[in-house]
Amino acid sequence: MPFVKVNPAYTSQRCQKCGHTCKENRESQATFSCKRCAWTGNADYNAAVNILEAAIEQWARTHGPAGSKSETDPRKGPAVLAGGACDEPLTARAVA
Ligand SMILES: [Zn+2]
Repeated sequence: MPFVKVNPAYTSQRCQKCGHTCKENRESQATFSCKRCAWTGNADYNAAVNILEAAIEQWARTHGPAGSKSETDPRKGPAVLAGGACDEPLTARAVA
């Protein structure tokens, strides 16, 4: 069983569906409600999915595809941070 260390920062504020990270998403201790995609659900479940995704990403980064081993590890911070800021427009864009 591989062990992957994951930075839990923001996992409770990040939407597991669209990646939007904002503390406003955390409606209450128990409920998560995304301000961007409107996904609503159990806050613990949401955080668990985020941690799982972060773990998979972390694993891929350190044990990545054979042959593409990079010598430097540009620690850009936790992957969970990707996904947009709070001040993003909430208007839904139609995708053609
Ligand atoms: Zn969302």
